[in-house]
Amino acid sequence: MGRTVVVLGGGISGLAASYHLSRAPCPPKVVLVESSERLGGWIRSVRGPNGAIFELGPRGIRPAGALGARTLLLVSELGLDSEVLPVRGDHPAAQNRFLYVGGALHALPTGLRGLLRPSPPFSKPLFWAGLRELTKPRGKEPDETVHSFAQRRLGPEVASLAMDSLCRGVFAGNSRELSIRSCFPSLFQAEQTHRSILLGLLLGAGRTPQPDSALIRQALAERWSQWSLRGGLEMLPQALETHLTSRGVSVLRGQPVCGLSLQAEGRWKVSLRDSSLEADHVISAIPASGIWTFGAIFRRSRSPGNRVMLGGSWLQTLEASGCVLSQELFQQRAQEAAATQLGLKEMPSHCLVHLHKNCIPQYTLGHWQKLESARQFLTAHRLPLTLAGASYEGVAVNDCIESGRQAAVSVLGTEPNS
Ligand SMILES: Cc1cc2nc3c(=O)[nH]c(=O)nc-3n(C[C@H](O)[C@H](O)[C@H](O)COP(=O)(O)OP(=O)(O)OC[C@H]3O[C@@H](n4cnc5c(N)ncnc54)[C@H](O)[C@@H]3O)c2cc1C
Repeated sequence: MGRTVVVLGGGISGLAASYHLSRAPCPPKVVLVESSERLGGWIRSVRGPNGAIFELGPRGIRPAGALGARTLLLVSELGLDSEVLPVRGDHPAAQNRFLYVGGALHALPTGLRGLLRPSPPFSKPLFWAGLRELTKPRGKEPDETVHSFAQRRLGPEVASLAMDSLCRGVFAGNSRELSIRSCFPSLFQAEQTHRSILLGLLLGAGRTPQPDSALIRQALAERWSQWSLRGGLEMLPQALETHLTSRGVSVLRGQPVCGLSLQAEGRWKVSLRDSSLEADHVISAIPASGIWTFGAIFRRSRSPGNRVMLGGSWLQTLEASGCVLSQELFQQRAQEAAATQLGLKEMPSHCLVHLHKNCIPQYTLGHWQKLESARQFLTAHRLPLTLAGASYEGVAVNDCIESGRQAAVSVLGTEPNS
């Protein structure tokens, strides 16, 4: 009898793991178990009354690097090339980045000239921060908060303005709590290997072998900064589900996993609400930890949709202070933010408010040690269990797809087909 692999969680990580398992030359029997009635996890696109698509989760995927290229390869394998909507390098959305500081929006400098000129909100040209970075010695700590790392290497202003905003944008988190080693591993590694982030990024770039396809070449030639899909990013989990079903993968929806126990013969018993499954190996792509992030998404008439994300790791403090977190409050705050920060004063024609609990895992200082202990535990006990998903080594969709692929590799003992 062939091996049975049960994949827990039908978010993008569990779907990617199942996909790669199903494409092995001799695939095991794969069962994907999802607690809710839909697949895709945080990737969710809904249509408004006038046909506009609202992303309730991720709304753009970065094509850069080996992981970005792998996701584009997956998109092609699923036959979605013609659905891709890229933001090309010459588009204003790709060229302009703004920081909202001191009640005003400031365009971030671009190009060498921009770095040499003073550009508010920074008091000095960013060139000086770069020069400082090149001269600083390598850090000695095994981990550091993002803020402390950026302050040490680039100075207090860049740490407080730029890196803080980056942490809010990507993790909805606090740069004074998040770990540089786990949240921005390429910056941490650049310093470890080349003593300087700038040198590391310059000398280390382009070393990782990348897959090749027509879509990947197009993304490189047109310098895409990110991409989405015509019908919303949820098309990706939907296409994966169609593929999995055609490959004979059993997809169980509405089946929360309640327990996992190892039987005497070394097989897992996976307990569901009303039944159970036997498995030789389990891939867990269920979230391990998280925080609250709130998204209030609304659309104005005669303009593209605007999305305001509120809360993040600060919301727990607000809640603890007794503030009533109602839909009305979020909508009001989102409209105020759009009006004061972007000058969008019209009432939105359509407004969606969604409360996302525990949606973005926070890799706080020392996260790497937790991963290390989990790995050691699994190895020491020879448990046929592999962990995948946003809780461990990257929250971006690309990271999650890669974690699913790596989980499949570890189960198969070899690279899957793609
Ligand atoms: C608002 C928001 C915006 C984002 N924006 C971007 C972006 O623009 N670009 C980007 O790259 N990334 C973005 N991300 C991050 C990215 O979308 C997520 O990290 C990623 O989708 C997580 O995928 P996952 O499969 O690991 O986890 P999830 O999506 O959490 O999937 C886990 C699945 O497991 C299921 N499950 C849970 N418990 C059980 C159980 N007991 N039994 C069975 N099933 C269970 C859940 O129902 C869920 O379907 C964003 C995330 C959020 C929340």
